[in-house]
Amino acid sequence: MKIALIAHDGKKAEMVTFMRDHINSFHRDEVELVATGTTGNHVENAGLKVTKMLSGPLGGDAQIAAMVAEKKVNAVFFFRDPLDKHPHEPDILMLMRICDVHNVPLATNPATAKLIFDTMLGGI
Ligand code: PGA
Repeated sequence: MKIALIAHDGKKAEMVTFMRDHINSFHRDEVELVATGTTGNHVENAGLKVTKMLSGPLGGDAQIAAMVAEKKVNAVFFFRDPLDKHPHEPDILMLMRICDVHNVPLATNPATAKLIFDTMLGGI
């Protein structure tokens, strides 16, 4: 099960908290992580193995969208900051659209990520 992780700057602390709260589940062999660059650094610092793509504003969101389109990702946890502006807004919208096109679970906040994660892990 491959999960993509992306957190805007204002949401990176929430992502780290989420990872720490579920650290044992994330350590399971069946779980593979991929993340945008800076989010990936935070995930690594939390003690987890992760494949890092480019930073979001440099194309990382687009790289993850391509993986979703190629069915290489089972779920996307994308903690967006709705109170900030982002230079890569077109990429953000594109990633969310591609998740909908391919019916891939997309969590834009920790509460939804927990529901998806618990459900997916319960199934493996
Ligand atoms: P980052 O990218 O993890 O490299 O900060 C996230 C984003 O802003 O899309």
